[in-house]
Amino acid sequence: MTGFDAADVGAALAVVRDRIRAAGGDDSVSILPVTKGFGPEAIEAAIGAGCSSIGENYAQELIAKRDVLDRGGRSVNVHFIGRLQTNKVRQLTDLVDVYETVDRLRLATEIAKRAPGAKILIQVDTEGELGKGGCPIGDLNTLVDNVVGLELDLRGLMTVGPTIGGPEAARDGFRQVRKAVDRLGLAVCSMGMTGDLEVAVQERTTQIRVGTALFGSRHVPIWRDQER
Ligand SMILES: *Cc1c(COP(=O)(O)O)cnc(C)c1O
Repeated sequence: MTGFDAADVGAALAVVRDRIRAAGGDDSVSILPVTKGFGPEAIEAAIGAGCSSIGENYAQELIAKRDVLDRGGRSVNVHFIGRLQTNKVRQLTDLVDVYETVDRLRLATEIAKRAPGAKILIQVDTEGELGKGGCPIGDLNTLVDNVVGLELDLRGLMTVGPTIGGPEAARDGFRQVRKAVDRLGLAVCSMGMTGDLEVAVQERTTQIRVGTALFGSRHVPIWRDQER
């Protein structure tokens, strides 16, 4: 897959905007283009289409694309949305603007040490689905209590819907996460992807993370083996 162009990404963004509106959302819902599994040209096309942020999942892949993140005076904010190993944080601090997948105190502590004041989201797991990451929702209060004592800017919560069962299967978890966002008085609720964004909008997401709808289907990410 090569040859992304800004006009195609712009047209795909308009389709996603229409889906958000059809589900009852408005322009306050932000769209985070997810460029994992694609070459640097996907990031360039997103920037060309006017996007100010992108999401990446794998530390090595992000590092390999670092040259396109800040080019010609147009820079893009990077949201890290994949499983994050504590020992990788050090290599990412000058590339990542928002760490969306903080799910344990040890990781939060390492980010606070290496990137004091960094913006973070806590990733919540409402499913108990193995391998997906996320703080079990029952442990969320304890983690939040500990994280607020660190030098970090806790913006909100993030969650990933179930991989099976279709979009409706995500609803109950999304509702639980949104409730926790409200209870904690946080601003950001990052939930919804290409397959379940309508349900996320109905459950009052503030940010959907969208890859396939903007860039087409991915190959298996090249860096996965090294990081899992
Ligand atoms: C890959 C990924 C996305 C985007 O998924 P699509 O189905 O391609 O829209 C969103 N969030 C996370 C955490 C991801 O890993």
